This record gives sequence, C-alpha cells and structure tokens, in this order.
Amino acid sequence: MAEVRDGDGVAWAAGADGVYEELKTFEGRSAATAVEGKDPVNGPMIRHWCEAMGDSSPAYRGPDAIAPPTMLQAWTMGGLSGYEGRSPAHDELFALLDGAGFTSVVATDCEQEYLRPLRPGDVITYDSVIESVSPLKTTKLGTGHFVTTRMDVRANGERAGIHRFRILKYAPAGRGSAPAPRARTATRPRPVVNRDNAGFWEGVARHRLLVQRCTGCAVLRFPWLPGCNACGGQEWDTVEASGEGTVFSYVVIHHPPFPAFDPPYAVGLIELAEGVRIVSNVIGVPCDKVRIGLPVRLDFLRADEDLELPVFRAVEDGVA
Ligand code: ZN
Repeated sequence: MAEVRDGDGVAWAAGADGVYEELKTFEGRSAATAVEGKDPVNGPMIRHWCEAMGDSSPAYRGPDAIAPPTMLQAWTMGGLSGYEGRSPAHDELFALLDGAGFTSVVATDCEQEYLRPLRPGDVITYDSVIESVSPLKTTKLGTGHFVTTRMDVRANGERAGIHRFRILKYAPAGRGSAPAPRARTATRPRPVVNRDNAGFWEGVARHRLLVQRCTGCAVLRFPWLPGCNACGGQEWDTVEASGEGTVFSYVVIHHPPFPAFDPPYAVGLIELAEGVRIVSNVIGVPCDKVRIGLPVRLDFLRADEDLELPVFRAVEDGVA
C-alpha cells in the first residue's frame, strides 16, 4: 500500500479500510437545508465579539457598521439548544464511523470565504453539505477519516459566505494499552506546599482553616501570600475561619474525566463568613442543587492515605 506524507507529517494511505467506499457515498449529500440563524445579524453580538477579540475597528461601529467577516460562523451556530434542520445524512455518516470504531472526534480546521458584508438586520439562512470524506489517515491522535462540511450562508437570500469545517473521526492511538485500570487507583494531585503556604496545610492537618491577617492593616487574605495586597506589609498572623460560608460561584464538572475524580462534581468559589474566598468542592448535595448563595459549612475530606482537604458541605435550613 502506497504511503504519502503530507506537509503536516500526516502519514496516509490511499487504501480502503472496509468502510471507505461507503463513506464516499455521503459526499455531496445534504446535512441541512434552508436553516435560519437563531438571531439576525445584530449590534450587541458584534459589540461583544469585538470586545472579546480586542478589535476596535471603526468599521464595526456606528450607523454604517458591518459585522466582522470572521463572525460568519457566529450567525449559524446552534448554541446550547442545538441545531435544527439537520438531515439524516449527518447522523448516518457519524453512526457509520462510530460503528467502524472511529468513535472519537476532534475539530481540525475551518476555512471561510466572504462574498458580501453582513449588516445588522440581515436574516441569515444556510445550507450545509457533506463535501468530502478523506481516505483513512493516521495522525498522532489516531487513525480515522477527515470529514469536511461546507456551509453556504445567505443574508436576506443573497449569497454571503462559505464556511468549511473539518473534523477528524478517529480511533485513538494506543487503544487497549490500559489506561483504565490505572485510573481506578489514581490519586488526586498533591498540593504544592512551600514556605509561603505551609502554615495553611499545617492548619488543615489539625482540621482548622487558617486565614492570614496583616498585622499592619488587619486586612485578611486568602490564598496565602508572603505580603499584604492592601498595604504591602510583610508581617502577619492568622485567624481561624468559623467554617461558615456561601457559594459565591461554581461550576459542575462533567467532562473531561480526570483520574481520581468522579464526575459530575461541583467546584465552588466559597465566600467565607470572614469575607475571603476559597476554591473547593461543594459536597452533600446533588450537583444540580448547587446554587449561588447556597449556605455551606467547612468539612474535611480524606482523599487518600496522605491527603486531607478542606471541602464545603451544603447546609440545609441551617442544619448541616
Ligand atoms: Zn496590610
């Protein structure tokens, strides 16, 4: 079988892997037809984009504003509520790839062509077609097929741009070489203990949550630091936190899985009664019941033989 190496060092073989002939039959099939963008082109989304990108071009402001051309995909994205109007071809192609063992997916690149400027008020519609499926290729991630989808975008019915999006559906390299059993015995990452924070961890070992207090200006600080952010003072003592607090902010981790962690789990930014904040797990409550403002109380989690960690347990009606 002839092997060719392209510029990215991707080795690929022109041979078939059993499903390639069938995969090829998807080329040219519609993935979505005449779908309308969830919002027309609009000023607020343009402003947020420009702020996020740090793009202050005057072309994107004022009464004659156009949308940044690279926002093309923003007007067609499905968002958290998902895409509408997808044809069965898309799902059938993915099912075929999954069934052949190419169960992982990674987005690799996109290309855009701009045919007409987009302006606030333009109503966006698009068609999407499965443009190509590559022969079997081997990359550092694994072996699989690149799938290129082309989206033809229209504004008020006029051709406005083309967005090509490429993914690799692949079987991960080194599969079956056993990371799974290791994961079960994995331990949580160790904290980095140094002379600036050793006192904190000594406190944890005695089930006390210690917060630094500047002896110059009495401002509390957490996490532990060598100096005071308020006055620059280097002298400090500690106060023991009462352990009462509330959830100031939080995320629930579903993915990706990390060894020694069992998703879903909640990571909270806890505001202690003393006013400082600490990042920790929120426990004792289902993840979907964690809320900003939820009262919590300090607890200690024995993570493994060598590691104990402060965590925060939800308090119900004032009773832990
Ligand atoms: Zn100070």
